[in-house]
Amino acid sequence: MSGNTPTTAESEQITILLPAGRLPRAILAEVNALAARHGFAIYLTTLQNLRLLDVPRSAAVEIRERLAALGAEFKAAGRFPVPRICIGSPYCSLGRIDTKALSDTIQERFSGRAKTKAKLKIAISGCILSCSGTRTSDIGVVAARHGYDVYAGGKGGPAPKIGRRILKEGTEEEVLAAIATLIDFHDRRTTSKQRMAKLIDDPGFPFAEV
Ligand code: SF4
Repeated sequence: MSGNTPTTAESEQITILLPAGRLPRAILAEVNALAARHGFAIYLTTLQNLRLLDVPRSAAVEIRERLAALGAEFKAAGRFPVPRICIGSPYCSLGRIDTKALSDTIQERFSGRAKTKAKLKIAISGCILSCSGTRTSDIGVVAARHGYDVYAGGKGGPAPKIGRRILKEGTEEEVLAAIATLIDFHDRRTTSKQRMAKLIDDPGFPFAEV
């Protein structure tokens, strides 16, 4: 969980999205230079993003502009979530897939959505060990022995839940179709924000356990 982002009269927090957990060197260098100049701290969030802490409010616009000029994108209400991924193949000997490639495909397919309701998290893991928390995420995609398994309704927090498997040994296209169906359902059944765990027993939930 990345937590809420409280601000004060003098400071705020800025979260830079890092798709597939990758931190471009140009952004790394600029963040380092800006931190030295403005004295803020840098935190790697549990969702694999980069959060700038205690950013002086007077400098926040300039900081965002400088980073945006390098291609940085920022966390904002309504944005489709960047999947949290494990390192996967070829960097982990157990990895069955290139998790970055699947994350990129999901981003390409869904990041242009006009608005995604809050509290929806997606994770991808390169094998059933689920190092990225795929079975405790709202939507978890796991590379299985043959194809992909998809889990829905997992969560952490004070009452953790293991997700329910809703697709077994599917193809990549079937995974993308399942994600589309799940986020559309989440949108329709959610007024402001909602974890998928609250919705999987809804009579209209579009998948059975498999
Ligand atoms: S989930 Fe599997 S592939 Fe991914 S880092 Fe863990 S062991 Fe490696």
